[in-house]
Amino acid sequence: MRIGGFVKQSLIDWEGKVSAVIFTKGCNFRCGYCHNPSLVLPELLRQTQDLKEEEIFGFLDKRLGWLDGVVISGGEPTLHEDLLPFIQKIKALGLPVKLDTNGSNPELLQQLIAGRWIDAVAMDIKSSLSLPCYRKVNYTMTASLLEKIQESIRIIKTSGLEYQFRTTVIPQVQSPEDIQNLQEKFSGTHYVMQEFRDGDILDKYIHE
Ligand code: SF4
Repeated sequence: MRIGGFVKQSLIDWEGKVSAVIFTKGCNFRCGYCHNPSLVLPELLRQTQDLKEEEIFGFLDKRLGWLDGVVISGGEPTLHEDLLPFIQKIKALGLPVKLDTNGSNPELLQQLIAGRWIDAVAMDIKSSLSLPCYRKVNYTMTASLLEKIQESIRIIKTSGLEYQFRTTVIPQVQSPEDIQNLQEKFSGTHYVMQEFRDGDILDKYIHE
């Protein structure tokens, strides 16, 4: 699997757990607010070396007993064909796994959930679930991708797993009506809204 980043210990990526975080390379979305452009844009991906899986597994092996789990984030992890065998290697160490996803690969998500290969999942909800609204955040959005997003939401809601849906609120992009729609749609689910933070975001590479 192509890995672009590794955080050895985090207290914020899996609530209530001390986790290691693995960041995969590559994403099929282009969200303007993305804080990981170096994991998304091909011209930046080429500038960094992939991390070696052996080194990561060597570290995880040594830290068994200190870590509560491993978060796989990105980029978009479900783009990687070898994600399942990669997760299986982590689970073979006895470590629980949380997946962060944009929801664009419901088939693999379903496979991971049905096989009990993941223990928790967090999915970004970029905006109201209409094509024009989603395209304001991610300009690569298509109608078929939006259907996949809807399918992933359904799968996660009925999975029985620990889950979280989350939206980054950007007042210039989502209208008050969008925000209200989201609050109504996800009422009664594990849903959080988080504040947009400026910084080294993808939008600056696309528009400057
Ligand atoms: S924020 Fe958007 S572009 Fe960035 S990694 Fe997530 S889905 Fe991809």
